[in-house]
Amino acid sequence: MLLRMSTLLLRTLREDPADAEVPSHRLLLRAGYIRRAAPGGYTWLPLGKLVLDRITEVVRGELLAIGDQEVHFPALLPADPYRTSGRWTEYGDDIFTLADRRGAEHLLAPTHEEMAALLVKDLFSSYRDFPVTLFQVQTKFRDEARPRAGLLRGREFLMKDAYSFDLDEAGLREAYGRHRAAYQRIFDRLGLDYTVVRAMSGAMGGSASEEFLAATPVGEDTFVGCTSCDFAANTEAVATRVPSAGDPSAQPAVEVHDTPETPTIASLVELANARRLGGRDGWTAADTLKNVVLSVRQPGADRAELLVVGLPGDREVDLKRVGAALHPAQVSVFEEWTEHPELVRGYIGPQLLDKLGIRYLVDPRVVTGAAWLTGANEPGRHATDVVCGRDFTPDGTIEAADVRAGDPCPECEVGELTIRRGIEVGHIFQLGRRFTDAFAVDVLGPAGKPVRPTMGCYGIGVSRAVAAIAEQHHDDRGLVWPAAVAPCDVHLVVAGKGPQLDAALELGGRLAAAGLRVLVDDRTHVSAGVKFTDAELIGIPRAVVVGRRLAEGYVELRERAGDGRTELPLDGLVDRLVHEVRQERASLV
Ligand code: ATP
Ligand code: MG
Repeated sequence: MLLRMSTLLLRTLREDPADAEVPSHRLLLRAGYIRRAAPGGYTWLPLGKLVLDRITEVVRGELLAIGDQEVHFPALLPADPYRTSGRWTEYGDDIFTLADRRGAEHLLAPTHEEMAALLVKDLFSSYRDFPVTLFQVQTKFRDEARPRAGLLRGREFLMKDAYSFDLDEAGLREAYGRHRAAYQRIFDRLGLDYTVVRAMSGAMGGSASEEFLAATPVGEDTFVGCTSCDFAANTEAVATRVPSAGDPSAQPAVEVHDTPETPTIASLVELANARRLGGRDGWTAADTLKNVVLSVRQPGADRAELLVVGLPGDREVDLKRVGAALHPAQVSVFEEWTEHPELVRGYIGPQLLDKLGIRYLVDPRVVTGAAWLTGANEPGRHATDVVCGRDFTPDGTIEAADVRAGDPCPECEVGELTIRRGIEVGHIFQLGRRFTDAFAVDVLGPAGKPVRPTMGCYGIGVSRAVAAIAEQHHDDRGLVWPAAVAPCDVHLVVAGKGPQLDAALELGGRLAAAGLRVLVDDRTHVSAGVKFTDAELIGIPRAVVVGRRLAEGYVELRERAGDGRTELPLDGLVDRLVHEVRQERASLV
């Protein structure tokens, strides 16, 4: 393959585009890999399409190697199967829906569990047909609330989705393990620095679930590690260690105190210490019970319901964790105070909630027998020794509090948690029978009785991976692609107005004939300086500059990573480059 810059559909940009907020988005636009075409929708330019296809090939190759079979479902689907599974409403505003000319409802599929289960039901009828795993690489559509950061969160994006079908749990665990290992090979080959973390199973329920997160400060996910053991989890999936419960009747009785002007935890703690509330000092925010009012809207419901979350006052509510815990409901901070005069803003205590019929969930640290300083449900008043299990009874617990660096590890209880941000590039989970139940997928079992297959589900954000790789592989001059995904192997830069052009084209022709992917900068009205800048922006692993020293039979080889520059004789150059690239390719599979 030989691409010529003089004719390539490419315009590099000197300036950062105004609407591009993260490095990958800026650089992919500036270097001419993508163009914004719609809100959350991007056109792949020739160089971008090459990168996308290389990533797709790595993904496809590793899945075929573990025996997965490639199919391709329609993206435009009738609503019925999604109604049957419940996801038509559960996905809520996140799916694009449309009607055909007869008024029949359709959707643009956000993911294809329904189709996979129906296809297996359609074609397979005996235990002998199993196990089987289907996969596809396909454009997905989601009406994301906040499309952002270019390819990182689009409304139309490329996903590889795979669905395994096994007859028993052991089979499912094996399929899961096989995909986990394949994913590790895929992301290793793509040159991503990633962590496999425990995850919530999100939209679909199910049990074991892990995400592959590419670490970068611009990632939307936050994940923890441990300083002592190998625990790693999305903060959404971190379970708080539960302290031991006590005897509620052993606590002193509730006392209500005047605490004027204490609408915040800090002001309350200050006053509690100054006045020795409850006959003591040494109060800290962690001794207070903060009650945060949230609005929760179930999918398909017209109205939101109130939910009060109780947590130690030194913690903040993490809406992402609450959202994950209450999925698929939508959660937001409650603001309609005037409609609920019974809730005294800043002075809410859990003592009343039961009577008001308001759902109350608490942080797992709020155990039976624990006594709190909390609101007394009157303006300017708080109560001490409000005891869980005596003065209030929560409706359950919820992981709503923020997770912080330095928190004790819930797994080993020795180490401390560290926190990083990452981009979710892959997600695997043991889904179970939700969809085979929904469509009554039964096959004849070995004993003549029907068995219902159990599913695993495995996704990779292929287009998102382009951005994740760019995020991890760039410097202040541009992209620095790993060899496995670079659009080309060699970038030939013609620097000179004489015989350099012909020499470079000849060199490019020979390299391309030997199977290398070559980009030649053969533009005649562009200075060498601009060409060098563009080459660094585009980020192909090696550039060969055909310049002044051509007359003496020399060219210059520039490595994009590491800045190595070597003068090389033109003689033998083709063999050298072909050898190098072949070795590189062999090491990448
Ligand atoms: P997120 O939490 O980022 O919204 P998700 O949990 O909705 O992701 P899945 O339904 O598990 O994602 O989809 C599988 C993969 O598809 C994800 O791991 C991610 O890499 C990719 N993906 C999901 N949504 C988008 C999007 N809007 N744009 C690009 N890639 C996406
Ligand atoms: Mg999503």
